[in-house]
Amino acid sequence: MTPAFLCLVFLSLTAIPAGATDDEAVTDGSLDVSEVIAIANEGISTRLEHGDIVPNRNRNADPCTARGCKWPKSGSYVRVPVTISSSYTREERNIIIRGLVSFHQSTCIRFVWRRSSDRNYLHFFSGTGCWSYLGRQSRGQPVSLRKNGCLYKDTVQHEVLHALGFHHEQVRSDRDTYVSILTQNIQPGKESNFVKVGTNNLGTPYDFDSVMHYSKFAFSKNGQPTIVSRSNPSLNFGQATEMSVNDIARVNTLYEC
Ligand SMILES: [Zn+2]
Repeated sequence: MTPAFLCLVFLSLTAIPAGATDDEAVTDGSLDVSEVIAIANEGISTRLEHGDIVPNRNRNADPCTARGCKWPKSGSYVRVPVTISSSYTREERNIIIRGLVSFHQSTCIRFVWRRSSDRNYLHFFSGTGCWSYLGRQSRGQPVSLRKNGCLYKDTVQHEVLHALGFHHEQVRSDRDTYVSILTQNIQPGKESNFVKVGTNNLGTPYDFDSVMHYSKFAFSKNGQPTIVSRSNPSLNFGQATEMSVNDIARVNTLYEC
């Protein structure tokens, strides 16, 4: 590990005040990721696709990771520079940092404070809702995590996984083998959230426990399911509170950790 990597780890751990390390203190256990995102993004004017993804800048429709939108790897690590808006309180900032450091513990992604020489970087700020671009863009790439709405560890991980190049689990290319989409229960105008994408699944299995999987009732207009497991229709899912084993495996495979 180089001093630059150590720097963020050091800052992260010392920046978290004693007594604030319990995730339960900052997590609303009654909502899953897709509910948090849907509520935070309801009615906002930001143009979004699939609920929380900003249409990419100057990109075509090919799978993201085939278009050079990975973050570059140097040596053993993928260094992703970040800035965090000063409008967050210390506690809010620490929720974001905890989400970032969770990648350090299981992948070769290393989030480091942006230096002036870093052209491309993620900028976390309290925007209109919870949203992110898909994969690396150019220059300062915003990740919106609105105060009072998006600051949960699983939501931070979800939006960061988008920025690393990952899409929602329920739209992956092979999803029809595993789930049925019940279009008759989807809110009018929200159907595009369920459009399948030509994802690169990196040899990982379809994962109902992914932090990128929306809930069974996502965008439901009538309280009935919009997504149902084909093998077990009574299965409940989309309730991950953190990255799954497969989410982590995907990062490690894509970035050759
Ligand atoms: Zn998302």
